[in-house]
Amino acid sequence: MHTTRRSHLHKKDRKHATMTYILRLLLGSSPPSRQHCAHSLLWLAFLISAIGSEANAFVLGPTAPGNWGSGGGPITLTYSFMADGIDGTAEAGGITNTSLATLWGGTLPTWQTEIVRALDSWANASGLTFVQVADNGEAYDAAQTSGDLRFGAHNIDGANGTLAHGFYPPNNGNSIAGDVHFDTSEAWKIGFGGGGVDIFQVAAHEIGHAIGLNHTLVPNSLMNANYTEAFSGPQADEIAGAQSLYGSFVGPAPEPMTVTLSLIGLATVAMARRKARKNNKEETTA
Ligand SMILES: [Zn+2]
Ligand SMILES: [Zn+2]
Repeated sequence: MHTTRRSHLHKKDRKHATMTYILRLLLGSSPPSRQHCAHSLLWLAFLISAIGSEANAFVLGPTAPGNWGSGGGPITLTYSFMADGIDGTAEAGGITNTSLATLWGGTLPTWQTEIVRALDSWANASGLTFVQVADNGEAYDAAQTSGDLRFGAHNIDGANGTLAHGFYPPNNGNSIAGDVHFDTSEAWKIGFGGGGVDIFQVAAHEIGHAIGLNHTLVPNSLMNANYTEAFSGPQADEIAGAQSLYGSFVGPAPEPMTVTLSLIGLATVAMARRKARKNNKEETTA
């Protein structure tokens, strides 16, 4: 029997919910809601790891080796979208997958762009590359699945509480490592503002778990356990975390003949930007 480790993103129930909750755990009193209670062991593990390392830096996930690939450097990972009805028994009895197309296709038809954007937000910040493959329809955590990161959805805990969960990298179960499941019960949206939760922001957070990052206490971090719209996507601290696991962004090597031209081009772009900035400033102060 393989054990699996996952983590999840919470929607803030009240102001300063994270600190309040952590203080309550330290005092040994009960967590503030049933949803949190169901995950209290995970929260406790997170708390210990957050304190054990430093609360002012990113925290790596609990699996070992905890990152994809063997060398701890740049790597290409595959991802796929799971179809409706895929067997989720490995996670819990009674779960069957709802495809993201079914969950969002009707009301949020550009959902796939948001998932790709979330993958890109990590790829552009580290040595990760993501390539889409067709999903082979195997059950959650089956021995052979086609995507390293498989995206799907099922009811997790009703509206609010846990919005989604992401499974840490190997070694973690058979194949469920890297998978991301969204809660079918949330009010999903694309973009910030108003009620509901943004697909990109939640996907980016869960992909953070899928590549090996745990929750952090660092303020204004995507890997904070609570959902926020104060910023968009990975911030400096978690980017440093991703780079510690996969190295820096590796762009295509420039052709030798075009290097000089590229440099001239970059200088021109830089000048144009300076000019544009100056113009913007003039416009905004006018
Ligand atoms: Zn999380
Ligand atoms: Zn799940």
